[in-house]
Amino acid sequence: MVGQRQADPFRIGIEKLRSMRDHSKSSTLATVVAPVLCIPLYWETTAVIPFGLWLSVMAMAVVARYLLIQSIGEEPQPQRDFKRLNIAIGLVTLVWGLGWYVFVQPDDIVSYLLYQIISLTVLFFGMVGYCIDWKTFSAFVVPLKLPELLFIGLHFDQIVWPIALGSMVAFYMALKMAFLFAKSWEKSFALGQKNDALIAQLVEEKNASMEANLAKSEFIATASHDLRQPMQSINIFIDLIDPQQMSESYRAIFGRMRKSIGVLNRMFNTLLDISKLDSKFVVRESQFHLVEIIHNLEDGFTDLNTEKKVQLSFEGGHHKVWGDPHLVEQILRNLLANAIQYTDQGHIRVRFEAVSDSLSFSVSDTGCGIPTADLPLIFNEFYRSDHSRSQYDGLGLGLAIVNRIVKKIQGQCRVQSEVGKGSVFTVDTPFAIVPHPVQEAEQVFTAHHAAPPTDLETSDNPTANAKRHLGIIENDESLQQAYQQYFTQAGYSVHIIPFEEDAFIAHLAVLPKLDFILSDFRLGSKDGIYFIQQLREEFNHDIPACIVTADTSPQHLDLFSQHNIDVMYKPIDIKTIEKFIAHHMP
Ligand code: ADP
Repeated sequence: MVGQRQADPFRIGIEKLRSMRDHSKSSTLATVVAPVLCIPLYWETTAVIPFGLWLSVMAMAVVARYLLIQSIGEEPQPQRDFKRLNIAIGLVTLVWGLGWYVFVQPDDIVSYLLYQIISLTVLFFGMVGYCIDWKTFSAFVVPLKLPELLFIGLHFDQIVWPIALGSMVAFYMALKMAFLFAKSWEKSFALGQKNDALIAQLVEEKNASMEANLAKSEFIATASHDLRQPMQSINIFIDLIDPQQMSESYRAIFGRMRKSIGVLNRMFNTLLDISKLDSKFVVRESQFHLVEIIHNLEDGFTDLNTEKKVQLSFEGGHHKVWGDPHLVEQILRNLLANAIQYTDQGHIRVRFEAVSDSLSFSVSDTGCGIPTADLPLIFNEFYRSDHSRSQYDGLGLGLAIVNRIVKKIQGQCRVQSEVGKGSVFTVDTPFAIVPHPVQEAEQVFTAHHAAPPTDLETSDNPTANAKRHLGIIENDESLQQAYQQYFTQAGYSVHIIPFEEDAFIAHLAVLPKLDFILSDFRLGSKDGIYFIQQLREEFNHDIPACIVTADTSPQHLDLFSQHNIDVMYKPIDIKTIEKFIAHHMP
């Protein structure tokens, strides 16, 4: 535990030594210059021989100091190097202390005062460099001051002693300050060490949790990949069954089966959404028309009128917006799914409006409403109110997804609800409304909104698809069969393309020019992008292609768009794939 770690005395010693060694090195010049400065000061009053002797001793002390300090390496060893440092700096200050006997005349107050100033200056220098360790500071200051004390004792003078006393007080205060400073330096160093350890631990924990999160996302992606594959086959086979050919009791069972599979599909998609948001998803902004979103949502919720007595309406969809259309659609899909789930009769209204030139939208329903106590909790992951848990299917992730996206785009989401009357979810986005002429906008809105499905858009008109060549690359055999059966019934000329390299190349010779390529992503040692590229190179670079995959890794999204390939995630309703193909075929 970081909190229990003590400051390491060894490390403290090393840090102190480093700091004092560096200071000593940089003050080496001062130790040479200062004694030389004494020459003009005391030349007239000091005899040549003692002066010369003092200078020689000082020169030797300075050289010894230099050598000793140089011997302290880049990685100091406290036990050995403290001694070296203390001897080195003590030697020089001892020579300064001896200066009292060389330069000061007992009856000359001027020489005394002058040397007192020199001695105090040396003391000051020592404080700056060595007071982080009070023992070293003592080694510096005691050899300087003791000779002075002795000198005063030997030449006691009434005028000098008050000054000497003041100097000794300064000496004592300096020692005390060094002691206090050393303690607080040690404390702050220890704190710094703890801080570093804490930061290292935090970084370690952050990395570990990021790794765990990534592993979780990868696990969800992999697990859901493996589960999606059979789900997709089940979906297609279910779509191929005609309930009209069953007895009434089987038809009822089949209806329930279909409903449960629908719930499973929704749960898969919710898990997919949340795993995509877990990864580093990016907001991709572009200009889009709200009508496109309305169109997709209407497609996704077509069963509404047949299953429930609920009316779905859209208002204000004539705007063009600059923002991320997929995220807007994802938010709306989740809010709409809830509104539909929790509303048995009445209406559901999706309303778009421009608020301060930004897109704002709301989904209101006349459903069961949400108890006030639940309102602060419903956006939490996996939160489901008691009432929904007992009566409806769900994972409790829909609003958590909405919440994450809204946070990511820096928008705001709020809810008003009354039990028994209904709920209104409002989302304010920062996406800008693009100004455009009202007339044009209304035309577009009406055109899209009222456009009846074309004959080509569903399998109800198989002959319309005749001679349209659909290439399918899929490694799951049951899915291959399901696609083949469904699209053949829908009137396409279906070509199952092998994905082993040699067989693929051989197959190119017998393939007609394709109108659309539908491919899985993971295909043995290669991937769907590779095969689509090969086919495009063989026939035509413009062949529209779509990858239908269970692999939800977000990094593939960019790859797909770089290669101009659309993507859909399994499990997906086969009718949606069919509509997509019909829409994109030349
Ligand atoms: P789920 O719908 O899967 O339970 P959500 O996260 O989408 O999970 O919603 C959380 C809870 O919020 C739901 O269990 C439900 O109680 C409540 N809720 C959400 N939307 C509505 C709505 N339109 N009407 C009534 N209750 C709702």
